[in-house]
Amino acid sequence: MKVLGEYPMMQQRGLNRRDPIPANSRLFQELFIQTQRCPCGGQMRLAAGHMCRELDVQSGLCSACSAQRRYFFTGSATPSSPSASKAFLAFETALDAGLNAVEMEEWEVAERHFEEAVSLELWFGPAHLQLGLIALARQDWEAARCALEKAAGLIPLEPGLHDALCRLWTALGNDEKAARHGWLSLQLDSSLDDADTRR
Ligand SMILES: [Zn+2]
Repeated sequence: MKVLGEYPMMQQRGLNRRDPIPANSRLFQELFIQTQRCPCGGQMRLAAGHMCRELDVQSGLCSACSAQRRYFFTGSATPSSPSASKAFLAFETALDAGLNAVEMEEWEVAERHFEEAVSLELWFGPAHLQLGLIALARQDWEAARCALEKAAGLIPLEPGLHDALCRLWTALGNDEKAARHGWLSLQLDSSLDDADTRR
């Protein structure tokens, strides 16, 4: 696991052969890379022209500073096969249904769909974040902590995640953790703004 220089308490996953990301399809590999951020704040995307290279390794390209990083995956032996595409379609359908339900403010429906999405691709950080936000709104602190800590392992550089963790620890009366996540949220948010202006 690679430890970030600027944020030594956070680790990004999938950056070496010994820490591969489980993924059931090539399409999920691409989507996973899009959930990741460069330490500069920019959003990563799959580097063009790398789709058919080494089976389990994909190159990500930062949309702000053009830095490249390699991501390692494990899972399907044939991630580009029709059955892998079908698995991704089921995951994407659950995810879209969850996001639509959030838009309609139908929290229980949304929760069901996001739970289905993470049962299909456990390593999708944004779905864990959504589950954490829904649990926070319900004041179910234990479920919120569980979901947000999973998200923190997968999308450690998302400011919205640290904002949610700040709210959780505030509610639980842990001022020290609340302050740390509040600070991280602000820091990461401003690095995102910087990355946007550089783009
Ligand atoms: Zn960058």
